Amino acid sequence: MLAWCCVTFANDAGAVAHRPSAPRVAEGNLVHVPPSATPVRIPLHLARDNAEIDRLWVQRVMVDEVWLEHGTWRSPKQSFFRPEEDIPSFPTGFAFELPRGVEDVDLMISTQAPVNVRPTSQTASGVAELQQRGGALAGANYASLAVLAFMALSLFAAVRDRIYLALLALSASAFAWFVASNGHLYGWTGVRWFALWGAQGVWALQLLHCAAATWLAQRYAELELASPRLDRVGNVLRYVALGLAAIALLRLDALAWPMAWGAALVGGATLVFTIATAIVAVRNRVWNSLSVLTVVLLVAGAFALRAFAPFGIHGFWVRYGPQLALTICVLLVAVGMIGRIAHVRDERDRERLARGDSERRLEREAARVELVQQLQRRLRELPAGDLEWAAFRSVFERLLPLLRLESAALVAYGFHGFDLLLAEPISSKPHYTDLLAARMGMMKGLARTQAPVQLQLGNGESVHLLHGVVPLPIRAPAWGVLLLQRSDGSSFTDEELALASDFGRLAVQHADEAAAALSLRRSAELDALTGTFNRRTIDLWLSRCFSDAHREEQLLSVLFVDIDHFKSINDTHGHAAGDAVLRQVSEVLRKELQPTDLLGRYGGEEFVIVLPGRNGDDARQLGERIRSAIELVRLDYEGKPIRITVSVGVATRLPRESEPAAAVARADQALYAAKRGGRNRVNVAPAVFS
Ligand code: GH3
Ligand code: MG
Ligand code: MG
Repeated sequence: MLAWCCVTFANDAGAVAHRPSAPRVAEGNLVHVPPSATPVRIPLHLARDNAEIDRLWVQRVMVDEVWLEHGTWRSPKQSFFRPEEDIPSFPTGFAFELPRGVEDVDLMISTQAPVNVRPTSQTASGVAELQQRGGALAGANYASLAVLAFMALSLFAAVRDRIYLALLALSASAFAWFVASNGHLYGWTGVRWFALWGAQGVWALQLLHCAAATWLAQRYAELELASPRLDRVGNVLRYVALGLAAIALLRLDALAWPMAWGAALVGGATLVFTIATAIVAVRNRVWNSLSVLTVVLLVAGAFALRAFAPFGIHGFWVRYGPQLALTICVLLVAVGMIGRIAHVRDERDRERLARGDSERRLEREAARVELVQQLQRRLRELPAGDLEWAAFRSVFERLLPLLRLESAALVAYGFHGFDLLLAEPISSKPHYTDLLAARMGMMKGLARTQAPVQLQLGNGESVHLLHGVVPLPIRAPAWGVLLLQRSDGSSFTDEELALASDFGRLAVQHADEAAAALSLRRSAELDALTGTFNRRTIDLWLSRCFSDAHREEQLLSVLFVDIDHFKSINDTHGHAAGDAVLRQVSEVLRKELQPTDLLGRYGGEEFVIVLPGRNGDDARQLGERIRSAIELVRLDYEGKPIRITVSVGVATRLPRESEPAAAVARADQALYAAKRGGRNRVNVAPAVFS
């Protein structure tokens, strides 16, 4: 395009500009015709050495009017913008019939655009051949560009990548520019009105083409990333081209010369920019970019050839070569673009997958966080024995929707001392019961491997269904697995099995922790030797029972049980024998109590029993049963029999008592009285002890 500008302007050196006094111009010479308000007369001398030569031929250029004069004879006028009706569809030149025998004629040109003409005399058949050759090439060129434009449109519709819009803009603008600059547009019904803009319309189309070429080049080489600076140059070039195109469409006669220059300069700059961009693309290994660079250079060469027309290089290919080269260039770029489709689709698929992946990951991470929170909350409040199933119910609540499970089950043996078969939904329990009966050994084996697997499992009769078997980290000899099953029979991904394994591990871990915390709490409440409540705990219970009984106006009795002559048992049989006696007594006491009664070791060999809801008489009877039961105990320690008796003090809560201190003191005094009374007896404190 730089060259194109040179064709039009920079070649004055070689052109023979007409001056009125100048001699006649011999045919075949290039004549430069500047724009002018009045028609320019170019006196020609024709070498009609052959009788058949009867035409004057001038290649079609953007003139408003062109005709021949010879004395008073005048040929019909022809115009680039108003083609005659009888000429071929794609005329390539102006042909005039010459008057017989005339060798000197005046070529008259009226033009607003600077043009170069090279008039030659021709035979009728020579003219026909020239018309045909140019027409055929132009037609083929137009057809290719139209096909490319439609293809670009379909590609855009299919892939929605804006690069195909740029390709559409490039091929459509090339089509429009070529059709207009070859003068063919003005012969077509429906678009003839474009002639109103004359040469300025052609420049506007050329500038639009430059803008489209820049846009496509920028996108094709991904300049924004590859070379931001060159990308900015491209943006400026594009805006300048579009701005000049808009000015050209204003069709101001005064701007004809500057517009011609502007269009040519932008054309040249676009070509240079395109070459630079193609080099960047080649460097970045853009698909097909090497061929594109080659053809862009070819286009540059073709336009440059035009620039040398004044120096004798001219002819058919000089005129149509650049257009053909540009079409080939568009074609190659299109091929490159098609190659991009697979890339674009891959990229899009990857993006969609990644998005889906991260959404799934987020969903699973959220479920995991929720599970941990629920396990921490729920298990804290549950008693031993409920922890295990509650933990796994929480797991199932989340796993079923997350992994689209139809059902899931927990199978565990010896987990915290329990054997568990938990199924969700409950209706699937028979299925898992059957499965377990048939495949218990295999499941135990899988549990040992600690690796989640998927297997076709059946209970012998039913169809074999694909199950995920996820071992749980339970300490041997206990073992456990999670069984997962989908209704659609689809297999589990490693990721899904890992998720189930992670959830199972969390459940086991939290159930273990909750059980450990529970046993720690209990050990802090109990006396290590006898397993009854320790002093601190029984004091707490005493306070709680007294305030409850006071509030609800309930009966409440307290028993103090003290082993008689315990010191002498220690002294006679040793401390260990004393411990054995303490354990034996606590066992007998426990047997005599009801579930609501509370037993604690109050001190050395003294036990306290709290009896909510019972009066003094009940308490006394219980004391009596205890006393006689202990009396009957025959404890053999290392072959030596030890006789044990206890003394019991009984006290009952008085109506206004909300605290245990006074009643405890009464029971203690009653016990003391029993001791004094000879031991191995029960003594009830009077309502008011003196
Ligand atoms: P009494 O019939 O008056 O109750 O006489 P006693 O000997 O039972 O009472 P005393 O208070 O004189 O003795 C209690 C003894 O219990 C003193 C202590 O060595 C012993 N003793 C306290 N705690 C333990 C224990 O945990 N194990 C053992 N073996 N002896 C204990
Ligand atoms: Mg004692
Ligand atoms: Mg004592």
